[in-house]
Amino acid sequence: MTDIARRIAAIRSTLPDGVELVAVSKFHTVETIAEAYAAGQRVFGESRVQELTAKQAALPASDIRWHFIGHLQTNKVRALVGHAALIESIDSERLLAAVDRESERAGVVSRVLLQVHVAAEETKFGFSPEELLDYFSRRTFEHLRAVHICGLMGMATNTDDRLRVADDFRRVAALHRRISEIAPDLRGFDTLSMGMSDDYPLAIGAGSTMVRVGTAIFGPRQY
Ligand SMILES: *Cc1c(COP(=O)(O)O)cnc(C)c1O
Repeated sequence: MTDIARRIAAIRSTLPDGVELVAVSKFHTVETIAEAYAAGQRVFGESRVQELTAKQAALPASDIRWHFIGHLQTNKVRALVGHAALIESIDSERLLAAVDRESERAGVVSRVLLQVHVAAEETKFGFSPEELLDYFSRRTFEHLRAVHICGLMGMATNTDDRLRVADDFRRVAALHRRISEIAPDLRGFDTLSMGMSDDYPLAIGAGSTMVRVGTAIFGPRQY
């Protein structure tokens, strides 16, 4: 067993049934990803469009599911649509509209998560909880033609304060429940992507259904 296979197995053994492991492979090589694939991993997360599409071309196995998890610029949407099994990082209505438009044009349905900003840092992208509640109250999602909103993605504050981190995750989970109440007719709005290498156990405690783990599988990234 390789180190990567061992780490994936160790993480999997701690995940409750129904929690999906996204192996965040950004900045790691195709060979490294192939090693994780050989260990049974099928879902990978990438944060740059060109890196995702290049790796997908190099690893064409049709059972790999590529998730996009980085900040998506509107001018890169066309290059991504049709390549990502899930776009986890929709951070504005404008971007959502662009993904809808380009998906319709390409004749595909894009599955997406809306990224919520609850962390203390100013620089993180995402909808505020208020903006999301407003968005679903207005029912603007009914006009989407080629996008399926599958749930929310959130990141906790980058801090050693475990109470703060757990609280951030609970706020995202509560928002997810609240949206399901506001819009009970939303179908398949059941994914809650929360938790990274340092905090995924806390995220699972708060109800995460999808964890995005990079460093704890692949080691540090060389930027
Ligand atoms: C890089 C990244 C991760 C993985 O972070 P690790 O600390 O390496 O596990 C998870 N989610 C997002 C959105 C990221 O950009």
